[in-house]
Amino acid sequence: MLELISQMDTLHLAGLLPVELVDFVSTLGQPRYRASQIFRSIHARRIMSFEDITDLPKEFRAKLSERATVATLRSESRYRSSDGTRRYLFKTHDNFPVETVFIPEERRDTICFSSQSGCPLQCTFCLTAQLGLLRNLTAGEIVEQIIVALNDAYGVGNETPRGTNLVGMGAGEPFLNFDNLMKAIRIMKEPAGLHIVPNRVTVSTAGVVPRIRELATIADRPHLAISLAAPNDELRNELMPINKKWPLKDLLSACKGFEKSLRAGERFTFEYVMLDGVNDSDEHARQLANLLNRHELRAKVNLIPHNSAEPLPYQPSPMQRVKDFRSILESKGVHTFIRQPRGRDILAACGQLAARGDASNAGLLELSNRRPERRIA
Ligand code: SAH
Repeated sequence: MLELISQMDTLHLAGLLPVELVDFVSTLGQPRYRASQIFRSIHARRIMSFEDITDLPKEFRAKLSERATVATLRSESRYRSSDGTRRYLFKTHDNFPVETVFIPEERRDTICFSSQSGCPLQCTFCLTAQLGLLRNLTAGEIVEQIIVALNDAYGVGNETPRGTNLVGMGAGEPFLNFDNLMKAIRIMKEPAGLHIVPNRVTVSTAGVVPRIRELATIADRPHLAISLAAPNDELRNELMPINKKWPLKDLLSACKGFEKSLRAGERFTFEYVMLDGVNDSDEHARQLANLLNRHELRAKVNLIPHNSAEPLPYQPSPMQRVKDFRSILESKGVHTFIRQPRGRDILAACGQLAARGDASNAGLLELSNRRPERRIA
């Protein structure tokens, strides 16, 4: 059950649940409190190397490094947008790209993590699609993205002053890597660790219907967002080919089922990317409102003006069009928000993650800490 990162049986400890760590330390002949020490060091103190876990005996640390590793992601580059958003480009131990985005916000910060390297879905408006699926990320690689982003923003192990929301909206389709995703979420909710509870996590899917149904059965589950991009099957088939497998009727009936699991005050989010002249007419707005109203869904819609990126053949809808679109939805009783794009200048916005290290040097920062810094007392 322990997660392997290479054929050399090196365990990636950031991807282990506390019980798995207990198993692991017992194979090394150590008592269980060592497991809690390690868990706390990695997830609460956010220490990324055994060398720096100085409260463990030296010989034990040496033994640990023969069998296991804390960190596996290598930082390739780091960009900072004029709006404060940061984008990280990592490489996995086997050299696949992983991207993570840190978005500072007034009330709390949001970290947008990736669930896969690349993505197998072929949404025509998304740059990540051009990579194809490289591979699923492990639970450890998901958790590590959050640890590194927090350390970069606040310093190793320092308190996070505003609290952290997580969104599974980076590269990949989270619901095609469901088990690893859910395991990462279980690890991150631990009070002795990162303590980011599922209620602070939103996972977005392009519409993997069986997993929507499965998520509804999980008691301590994250929030759900669904990417729609079109209000009818004809257009959605074209923009999001996954629709041919799970058309709108199936998708919305899964949403209807999921609704029973909504908690007080909780709503679904539907994301709707606005593509100039493609899916943004008054008629599309009316169809969208009718679709949601027909299913009587307690939902809100986030309109996302398209983030352009070469060579995608789309432009964002003009702001007045987005506002008019919203008015039509609102007039039919659908709560609608316009999502402000963040980090466009560093290719960090929705749909722009494609492992580009070369697109522009704007915002490129020196890598200050390839190795974790020591915590300053
Ligand atoms: N695969 C999942 C997770 C990715 S979330 C999903 O599809 O939900 C990324 C969000 O950004 C999705 O809502 C997607 O529709 C939207 N998106 C993709 N490309 C975009 C682009 N170029 N501009 C704006 N939004 C985009």
